[in-house]
Amino acid sequence: MQIPLLDLKLQYQGIRDEVRQAMDEVCDAQYFILGPKVARLETELAAYCRVPGACGVSSGSDALIMALMAIGVGPGDEVITSSFTFFATAGAIHRLGARPVFVDIDPGTFNLAATQVEAAVTSRTRAIIPVHLFGQTADMDPILAVAAKHGLTVIEDACQAIGAEDRGRRAGSMGDFGCLSFFPSKNLGGFGDGGMILTRHADRTSCLQILRNHGMDPKYYHALVGGNFRLDALQAAVLSVKMKYLDAWTDGRQRNAEIYRTLFAASSAGRRVGLPQLAPHCTRHVYNQFCIRLPAEHRQGVWNALKQAGVGCEVYYPVPLHLQKCFSGLGYREGAFPASEQAACEVLALPIFPELTREQLEYVVQTIAGVLEKK
Ligand SMILES: *Cc1c(COP(=O)(O)O)cnc(C)c1O
Repeated sequence: MQIPLLDLKLQYQGIRDEVRQAMDEVCDAQYFILGPKVARLETELAAYCRVPGACGVSSGSDALIMALMAIGVGPGDEVITSSFTFFATAGAIHRLGARPVFVDIDPGTFNLAATQVEAAVTSRTRAIIPVHLFGQTADMDPILAVAAKHGLTVIEDACQAIGAEDRGRRAGSMGDFGCLSFFPSKNLGGFGDGGMILTRHADRTSCLQILRNHGMDPKYYHALVGGNFRLDALQAAVLSVKMKYLDAWTDGRQRNAEIYRTLFAASSAGRRVGLPQLAPHCTRHVYNQFCIRLPAEHRQGVWNALKQAGVGCEVYYPVPLHLQKCFSGLGYREGAFPASEQAACEVLALPIFPELTREQLEYVVQTIAGVLEKK
């Protein structure tokens, strides 16, 4: 059996005609950058994520950079974020000349340990970027409380968590800004790169629109320096079609997660495999990834067996950010963030995409059980 980690061809089969028609409209209009398709997607996503403002941009990484630019983060500033996330979260901070200040994760959820955030605040701290990793929100209330107490901006990295909820509030709607990515492997994926900045401050939207277009307002007049962070109309056209299916796809991911839980509970592997934990504050997990934990000494063996059996899997992420070579100048040492370092040795993402069948999930669990029984 061949079970890729993600099979986008299956998804495309179901929406092919609609997507091609939407793309044809862009081709006929020959209007490729921003324009009505992007404006429509912004309206749809603002409604979906329950925020007054949304600004389509070129990627999730650029959404993070733009949110930091919008509050004027630069050299001498510090921004607090998780040491266990995709690189872009910290890369955005560094690229603006500011210092990423890492905080360890909660081992249960892989998200920023909310109780450790305040200890990282200094007089130079400008913002906190909680990451909603794998589709589950970070514990936002204590993070928002620390931010309010110290006058900090909160930028949610919701790139993996569109539609996730924290106590009923949508990911990206709780902080000052929320960043979404439309990288093809995200729950709402485009046919290339794309992203969106959400904001609960309606009056900030026009500043974001100006920033994404070289800070230009009006045409050829620049009061500030922005960049080319624009979203293509073709991407927006595809994404508007996909938006209609997002909730059904999320239901499929949640259903598959429940099937995995049932199968692992009934399997000999159940004892040795740590399943994703749902935090009480997270009222909707959207399972961009289903990351299990394995004893570190067995992870490579399980990986090999899955690959041998035709099952795709991946390690998100093998190196915590404080130990990345490019950040060696920040002075962090091994042992600084034990929960992040342990997660990096234990995690393994299994296929969770909505079109998977029960038989395929059984095959994945059986393969893992088979190799662990021999260990
Ligand atoms: C994907 C991702 C990003 C970056 O998004 P791109 O659209 O690929 O630039 C940022 N943060 C996290 C947590 C992500 O998963």
